[in-house]
Amino acid sequence: MLMYDVIRKKRDGLELSDDEIRFFISEYTIGNIPDYQAAALMMAIFYKGMTDREIVTLTQAMAHSGDTVDLSQFGGLTADKHSTGGVGDKTSMIVAPIAASLGCKVSKMSGRGLGHTGGTVDKLESIPGYNTALTQDEFLSQVEKIGIAVIGQTGNLTPADKKLYSLRDVTATIDSIPLITSSIMSKKLAAGSHTIVLDVKVGSGAFMKDITQARVLAEKMVSIAKLCGRKASAVLTDMDTPLGMAVGNSLEVIEAVNVLKGNSHGPLREICLALAAEMLAQTFSYSREKAIKLCRESLDSQKAYSKMLEWISAQGGDVSYIENTEKFPKAKISKELLAQKDGYISSIDAEGIGMAAVELGAGRKKAGEAIDHSAGIIFEKTFGDRVSRGDCLCRIYTNDCSAVPQASEKILQAVSISDSIPVKNPLIYDIIN
Ligand code: URA
Repeated sequence: MLMYDVIRKKRDGLELSDDEIRFFISEYTIGNIPDYQAAALMMAIFYKGMTDREIVTLTQAMAHSGDTVDLSQFGGLTADKHSTGGVGDKTSMIVAPIAASLGCKVSKMSGRGLGHTGGTVDKLESIPGYNTALTQDEFLSQVEKIGIAVIGQTGNLTPADKKLYSLRDVTATIDSIPLITSSIMSKKLAAGSHTIVLDVKVGSGAFMKDITQARVLAEKMVSIAKLCGRKASAVLTDMDTPLGMAVGNSLEVIEAVNVLKGNSHGPLREICLALAAEMLAQTFSYSREKAIKLCRESLDSQKAYSKMLEWISAQGGDVSYIENTEKFPKAKISKELLAQKDGYISSIDAEGIGMAAVELGAGRKKAGEAIDHSAGIIFEKTFGDRVSRGDCLCRIYTNDCSAVPQASEKILQAVSISDSIPVKNPLIYDIIN
């Protein structure tokens, strides 16, 4: 088979056979197909699209390009949650213990921060002692014993996606529905869970800026997951403004703990309830109403909080930091940013806030850089709040005093204040299953 013929076929808008797709993935992964031919195929797919059959084959070929996790010992009880990435998105740390406290087996492999979006692994590593690199045996035995383990991605999971994602990143072929679907779903298939709940973010801080595109992506990912034999649903959630009040690693852990302790009742709790309920509803075939009720009870009775303590402790984390979040080290510099005029907060541009958090040290400007776990932003005011000139909008935290002026400017630019009461986006646009 010649790669030239595969590219030409897709360029002409024809459907690729399973053999052609498998040939491309296996030969590209081992380095027998050069990047320039792979890039040409990515661009052809970008323009000509793929049928569901082609996407299923591509997804499965990518999922099997490296290691896969075998969770068959847990039957159909395994459930995973994936977010398409956002700012202040600490939902995994809340959703995972809720679902585990109600019988799901949550075996999660999470990522690190990328660009303006944070990553669960970085956040969890702000808990002293927490080990994100369990061996496969340790990982499985923890899931067996306590129903939950959250680690970083292991070395050789979906190498085809790693290569293709880097290539797409520099050839303007990221935003293609078949390519995003196969990239995300291949990692989920390889990670092994039977139920997959997708949190598809919509808005300025998200990958998908508008609801129409986000819905198309969500529907495609759910249908491909089902065609691959998994249970799946997608929750379309707002990411025009950051989620919750904290952005930055240990600051977000503290906010997550507050939700689990029952001390926080805002949008963050509502989105977490919806996501956890989907995991439960799909896994146990409960109605959505029953699943939400159980998740609420788990939060209110602190059953989910107890599960978090069990989980953090099992992975070597010092739970005294969770019990008393005052123990988390504080950044040396903290500064209030004040409202420049009277009015209502009419937008908080999530991408701008994410970039400001990176500037403060909460994220990486280059891959592999160390991050400052105590850096970030805590908002005092949120979307729709009335403010007077001089009110504190937020407090920034950093150990790098040279970052303060630029980060402050970015934040003040990201927060708009209008004279009239702004219209709120829905928190949850839709649930697709
Ligand atoms: N996230 C992924 O993992 N893959 C994509 O293609 C896009 C977002």
